[in-house]
Amino acid sequence: MNTIIANSAEKALGDRPTATTRDYTTRQNETMLALRWYGDKDVRVEEVPAPTLTEPTDVIVRVTGTTVCGSDLHLYHKEIMQLQKGEILGHEFMGIADEVGSEVKSIKQGDRVVASFQIACGTCQFCKEGLTSMCDRTNSSALQEKLYGKPFAGLFGYSHFAGGFAGGQAEFVRVPFGSVNLLKIPDHVPNEKALYLSDIVPTSYHATVCADVEKGKSVAIWGLGPVGMLACKWSKLAGAKRVIAIDQIPERLALAQDIGCDTIDFSKQKDVVGEIYKLEPLGVDCCIDAAAFRYTKTLRQSAERLIGLETDSSEIPNETLRAVRKFGTVAVVADYAAMTNHFLIGALMEKGITYRGCGQAPVQKYWHQLLEKIESGEFDPTVVLTHRFAIEEFSELYKAFDEKKHGIMKTYVQTRFSPPPTAGTPPLSTLRQGDLKPVPTG
Ligand SMILES: [Zn+2]
Ligand SMILES: [Zn+2]
Repeated sequence: MNTIIANSAEKALGDRPTATTRDYTTRQNETMLALRWYGDKDVRVEEVPAPTLTEPTDVIVRVTGTTVCGSDLHLYHKEIMQLQKGEILGHEFMGIADEVGSEVKSIKQGDRVVASFQIACGTCQFCKEGLTSMCDRTNSSALQEKLYGKPFAGLFGYSHFAGGFAGGQAEFVRVPFGSVNLLKIPDHVPNEKALYLSDIVPTSYHATVCADVEKGKSVAIWGLGPVGMLACKWSKLAGAKRVIAIDQIPERLALAQDIGCDTIDFSKQKDVVGEIYKLEPLGVDCCIDAAAFRYTKTLRQSAERLIGLETDSSEIPNETLRAVRKFGTVAVVADYAAMTNHFLIGALMEKGITYRGCGQAPVQKYWHQLLEKIESGEFDPTVVLTHRFAIEEFSELYKAFDEKKHGIMKTYVQTRFSPPPTAGTPPLSTLRQGDLKPVPTG
């Protein structure tokens, strides 16, 4: 849906009431750098007023680490409804509690914290059940309610379709319901490991839970972005007997092999389903679709997307439906937004497939246990960390990330408040001269 149509539809419907405001008070004499959206492939780092406490449940975070997510590329390509010019993007960030509202008990000023990408109220029925990503009181999008029946929770920096909250690709962020949406990080866990508890660590773990991955089962994973790659890791840790990883980017396939996966390069092996049956003659027990709706292979579906006959492609969903074992499970963790054509509903029914939408992962449900796995060394999210950049270069980074250049998988984006890189993590690089170069230290 065109953003202009979507925004006027929202206006006509009127926003849903929420338990917190998306508008915030700003500091009198302090500005910050933030990445703002202006249009298709047009994002800019600008100096804007820094936020201050707006409600007593708020915490203001001084950002020491942020990043760009594969799902931000949907915003970059203007594919998410209800984007508005000037929105601050970003939903994965960590930092120091700079100001703490009077009603926040669990966080103190100066605490090191990581934020969940979702904004949960902590008190509605969904939050009480631990389903924070489905919080019923933080997303103002009446359009999403109309489209889906009920909207998911408000998200940081993900357009007015997700509540219109300012995001974390910035030097300061206002975190509503700070005691619910921030996790304290122990001193001995470095930033480069803590940051990814915002999204990709819980999201990848949640995908394996939704796909019923267990010891002894076979798993196939489409799309080796950070979420797909970490899902490969979780599946191996869970004791899966075989993990088949599908992508076309050589560095990603090589990393998946290092993790111990079989790989399929779909640019060379066109019949992905046939290749899976060669490895697993009965089909795979668990499929995870971690690619995305934008990736079409056939001309027919590219054309249908282009002229607006569908928003989302069914090509990968249909591959998963064909490749999964009878009575197996398919988990969809990739972002799908609206409608698809040619969905193979017959296989879904006739093969007795459990086809499960993962939803946005309920981060708070998992992050304590996953922090423990990071602390113990059982799980290291930095296997996907490839580069470090400065916040000033966010627009160059979006472009390079979108074009899949320089082997960028997951980045750590520093601000003026960040400590130097932890030993063993990528040093600072620059994209400023049109190419990737190290930044000299000292
Ligand atoms: Zn993300
Ligand atoms: Zn809630």
